[in-house]
Amino acid sequence: MYESVTNFIDDTLNKSIDALKTLCRIPSVAAKNEGLEETAKVVQNMLKDIGLETEIHPTSGAPVVTGWLDVGAKRTLLFYDHYDVQPAEPFDLWDSPPFEPAIRDGRLFGRGVADNKGDTTSRIWTLKAFKETGTDLPVNIKFVVEGEEEIGSVNLPEYTEKNTDFITADGGIWEFGGAGIHGKQEAWLGLKGIFFVELEVEWLSRDVHSSAACVLPAAASRLVWAVNSLKDEASNILIEGFYDGIKPLSESELEVIGNIDMNEDELKKVFGIEEYLNGLTGDALKKAYYGDPTCNICGLTSGYQGKGSMTVLPAKASCKIDFRLVEGMHPDDIHKKLRKHLDDKGFTDVKIPYLEGYPAAKTPVDHPFVKVVEAANQRIFGDLVVHPTSPGSGPLYLFNKYVPMVSIGCGDYESKAHSPNESIVVENYRKAMHRIVAVMDEMSTW
Ligand SMILES: [Zn+2]
Repeated sequence: MYESVTNFIDDTLNKSIDALKTLCRIPSVAAKNEGLEETAKVVQNMLKDIGLETEIHPTSGAPVVTGWLDVGAKRTLLFYDHYDVQPAEPFDLWDSPPFEPAIRDGRLFGRGVADNKGDTTSRIWTLKAFKETGTDLPVNIKFVVEGEEEIGSVNLPEYTEKNTDFITADGGIWEFGGAGIHGKQEAWLGLKGIFFVELEVEWLSRDVHSSAACVLPAAASRLVWAVNSLKDEASNILIEGFYDGIKPLSESELEVIGNIDMNEDELKKVFGIEEYLNGLTGDALKKAYYGDPTCNICGLTSGYQGKGSMTVLPAKASCKIDFRLVEGMHPDDIHKKLRKHLDDKGFTDVKIPYLEGYPAAKTPVDHPFVKVVEAANQRIFGDLVVHPTSPGSGPLYLFNKYVPMVSIGCGDYESKAHSPNESIVVENYRKAMHRIVAVMDEMSTW
């Protein structure tokens, strides 16, 4: 089936890697607002080149690029990708420069190759194979490629809320995925939500000599007391009403996770731990991983943190905290509850500017589109491990009312997304293109 298409993919593999390299050479770092408009245009040209109609939608931030081709098929497949990347720092930990992609031992290294320019290019190149071989597409195609995924998709709602017709489709492929620790392909059906906040204390007009700590208030201590009130030693989150309304994992989700091998012991070695939080193991560990919200300190800052000693009483202290949210929770509600919690504990002076947030979303594990992806994966890679949700976050909530999404991709367990030496296996990239062909084929007969 579609042999000329898959032959084209194999015969032009080097060319498609070159196209990916070109895309990765542009440092489109959303956090620094670098190269975004330029990359949006490159992506638009890639979509035009495969015969799609395209449009660039300006937002208050980075533009959203869309592409579509209606071939009059019964089913429509939508791809959600992003052209922005994480910052590449620290540069000195890279074995080759992050924005000069290079192949070593069958892996392509460079910032964005896994997250998610490799997936974006593989999907576009698959469609190129249909066009160049004159093969009819079995499904209609839509692309939504945004440029702010790595900073919380802050302006994406400006596009999605006005274009619900466009994002309506029979099935969608989300941005990421790949092979797990033992090489089996994994699919993710959901994403947790996020509420990211910074706690700030400012008690003095300037830093002073620490000898004054006997008579002046200490912002850093104040911050630590406030943060300490959020969670107990068993990691129970102590904000009143925090767990209210949480939708527990469904029977079918529990059944699916029952079959997942968490590789508990192996991962203990990877993380250098003796045991998981609260001694979690087996089903309890899985339930927590897929179904629990979090309250995590990402960074704590105050005073002098350089070499040696410097006796100072800092004027300010701050702490970045991310809450991963599960279905039934909303960041605005958690923001209010956090404010009330701090006020009730007497921390009315602790400021909490809202940084980013959105709710969780999931595609039901028994949705027929999930079966389509499983069958397609079976043809190319073999068995698929289906996760009801990723423990990570993404703006799936903007789409999942209109299209069932499954996240699969060309990454793998060693891809190091967000870290130095990000990479993909070239062979996985090639087979991921074959899998997209199979998804389209399976979808057309569904
Ligand atoms: Zn990312």
